[in-house]
Amino acid sequence: MKNLDFIHKILPEDNISSDQELTNFNTMHLPCVAKHFFTVNNDKMLIKTISLLDAVKENYIILGNGSNVIFKSKFIDKAIIHLSGEDIRFFPKTDGYLVSVFAGVPLSKVVHKCIKMGASGLEWAVGIPGTIGGAVLMNAGANSSSMSSVVHKVTYYKDLSVHTVLNKDCGFEYRKSNFGDCVIIRVVLFLPYGNVSTIKQKTEEFLALRRSKSAKGYSAGSVFKNQDKPAGYLIEQTGLKGFSFGDALVSNEHANVIVNNGQATGKEVCKLMKVIQKKVYKKFKVRLEPEVKIIEN
Ligand SMILES: Cc1cc2nc3c(=O)[nH]c(=O)nc-3n(C[C@H](O)[C@H](O)[C@H](O)COP(=O)(O)OP(=O)(O)OC[C@H]3O[C@@H](n4cnc5c(N)ncnc54)[C@H](O)[C@@H]3O)c2cc1C
Repeated sequence: MKNLDFIHKILPEDNISSDQELTNFNTMHLPCVAKHFFTVNNDKMLIKTISLLDAVKENYIILGNGSNVIFKSKFIDKAIIHLSGEDIRFFPKTDGYLVSVFAGVPLSKVVHKCIKMGASGLEWAVGIPGTIGGAVLMNAGANSSSMSSVVHKVTYYKDLSVHTVLNKDCGFEYRKSNFGDCVIIRVVLFLPYGNVSTIKQKTEEFLALRRSKSAKGYSAGSVFKNQDKPAGYLIEQTGLKGFSFGDALVSNEHANVIVNNGQATGKEVCKLMKVIQKKVYKKFKVRLEPEVKIIEN
C-alpha cells in the first residue's frame, strides 16, 4: 500500500483510523481488520477522497452500513471508505417532493423524515438496515416494491469524473443496478405528497410484518437471490435449516439467512454458502446466486 498521508489534508482526524476493527461495521459481526478506514459524510469529501486515491492508483472498498457484505478475509489491506451522514433535503414540486440524499444516509433516517414531511412511497423500506447508496446499488426491495420505483436520479463517480443519470438509465433489475463499478454519491427520490398519519400507519404495518418474519441474530439478510421459487423454500427442502460450520448457522427461522452464532468467521460463512449451493443444485438443478457481496482482501 502506498503512503496515504495526503488523506489528512482532506478528512478531519476523527474520520481517519488505522487497523480498524470492523466487527461493528458489518451486521453479521464478522471479525475483520482494515488497514486504513476513512469515514466520509458529505459529497465533497467523498469525491475528493476517491479521486485522490484513484490518482495514486490505490484500491478502495466502499462500505455503507455493512448489511449486505461478508468479510471473507480477516484483514483488508485496501482502504475502506465508510459512508455515513445525515444530509436529506426536501424540494416541494407540484405533485410531490424531490428528496435529495447523500449516499451515506441510513435508509431508516430517510423513511422517518418522509413520515414527518408527508412524503409517501418509501414506507415499504422501513427496517432495511442499509444506507441509501447501498440500497440503490442493490436495488433493495421489500413487499413488492424496490428502490427502482422511487429513484428519480443518481449522481455517481466513475473513471475520475462525476455523472448523473435518470432512473431509466440506472439498469435496475431484481437486486441489481448498473452501479457495480461506480461510487454512488447522491440519490434523488421522487415521492408524492401523502397524508402524514396514513404514511405513519402504513410504515408501522410494514415494520410489524417485517418483525414477524425476521430471523433472529446477527446476519446480512437474505444470502441468495430468489429465482422462480424463493431461495428460502429451496434451501429448506434440502433439510439444511439449523446446519452449521463453526458458528455460522443456517437460521432455523428463515433458511435463506445465515446467522453468526457467536464467533463465526467469513470463511465459515462462505463454506456454508457453498454447501447450500451444492445441495440445492443437486436436488433442484438450480444455481443459487448470492445476493450478499463477498469482500476479500
Ligand atoms: C436484517 C436485515 C434485513 C434486510 N432486509 C432487506 C430487505 O428487505 N430487502 C433488501 O433488498 N435487502 C435487505 N437487506 C440487505 C441490505 O440491508 C440491503 O442490501 C442494503 O441496501 C445494503 O446497504 P448497505 O449500506 O448496508 O450496503 P453495504 O452492505 O455496506 O454494501 C453492499 C454493497 O454495496 C456497495 N456500496 C455501498 N454503498 C455504496 C455506494 N455509495 N456506492 C457504491 N457502492 C456502494 C458495497 O461496496 C457493497 O458491495 C437486509 C439486511 C439485513 C441485515
